[in-house]
Amino acid sequence: MMGIFHDLENYGHEQVVFFHDKESGLKAIIGIHSTVLGPALGGCRMWNYADEAAAVRDVLRLSRGMTYKAAVAGLNLGGGKAVIIGDARTQKTDEMMAAFARAVESVGGRYITAEDVGMSVKDIDLVRQYTSHAVGGSNEGGSGDPSVMTAFGVFQGMKAALKHAGLGERLEGVKVAVQGVGNVGYHLCSYLSAAGAKLIITDIYPKSVERIVQEFGAEVVAPDEIYAVDCDVFAPCALGAILNNRTIPQLKCKVVAGSANNQLETDANGFALQAKGITYAPDYAINAGGLINVAAELDGYNAELVHLKVSRIYQTIEDILQRSTKEGILPHQAADALAEQRLDEVRNSTNAPKSFQNPSRQNADRTKKLVIAR
Ligand code: NAD
Repeated sequence: MMGIFHDLENYGHEQVVFFHDKESGLKAIIGIHSTVLGPALGGCRMWNYADEAAAVRDVLRLSRGMTYKAAVAGLNLGGGKAVIIGDARTQKTDEMMAAFARAVESVGGRYITAEDVGMSVKDIDLVRQYTSHAVGGSNEGGSGDPSVMTAFGVFQGMKAALKHAGLGERLEGVKVAVQGVGNVGYHLCSYLSAAGAKLIITDIYPKSVERIVQEFGAEVVAPDEIYAVDCDVFAPCALGAILNNRTIPQLKCKVVAGSANNQLETDANGFALQAKGITYAPDYAINAGGLINVAAELDGYNAELVHLKVSRIYQTIEDILQRSTKEGILPHQAADALAEQRLDEVRNSTNAPKSFQNPSRQNADRTKKLVIAR
């Protein structure tokens, strides 16, 4: 592919590997952005990409995002992602999953796969028959549905953002507008309701809305009305790119804190939020609970420890927001700076491995050198 090394240099990737298996029709790409902090963990996305260039772009963008997410979450993991080109509903076969597993196995533990769009728990179970470098299956020691911990992390980060915005961290009586009450949105509403918050919700799927109304009580608005709702917090838990030129002028909230990935359509939208005096909890920092949960499988899943680590998202969001104020930068820039600082610290530590090579040696080295789990 023309220009691929230019892209790798731009994004800062260590390795991108293409796989083809004639029998099963597998066309897969594994993107390993960084193994500075440890093996590169990230889900596999199966998607019917318009063309191969779109698949490459996606794997590069997503794997880099995982490096930053793991770094900010205080995990000893690098950033990676895989994509399989094809329609998950019509083209996925057991043979293809087996071929994908062999591809994962062939990179020798530098990449650990998990679920993403188009891949199910069942697929991961199959993949695990051929490689141990996969997490998120239903096996014994599996971490289960990540959305509960994602929601718990968002709940913690929301409290820190409210405090930063001068509203105090108590949620009693605080009005929270939740966009999307699917897996994460449901659990977030549960935490918020237990803390005495007032819920205003929307979803395009009426059954999900009814469930929240019945279980927790909530005011319901139409999908397009959620932005202009009079509230303290807007919690995007559905789509990406929903903080944009059309929606930001409508917002009446003081805080944006939700689970959706890539909430800002462009970096400029971060400035627009700031100009309106809205405190933004950066998406990949506040929604890391699911990653922390799945990563815990690597050390032997311990629910109590996961709960503790996810609760530290409060501190992470507080640190990011304080840094953004102190340095006069936007919250998402402060999150990036925190990630880069952690990566630099490890890169510059004299005897730190420059990249992940050998799982056993790396684990021993990492335990000695890193102060983690903030
Ligand atoms: P989900 O599919 O279970 O829920 C999303 C909900 O949003 C659905 O109920 C859907 O009907 C609704 N929705 C879609 N378009 C909408 C619209 N225009 N207006 C209102 N509602 C709309 O997904 P999820 O697992 O709850 O994840 C929610 C978001 O959080 C996604 O952006 C996801 O990438 C992100 N995220 C999830 C996790 C996790 O652990 N599940 C972790 C990190 C990030």
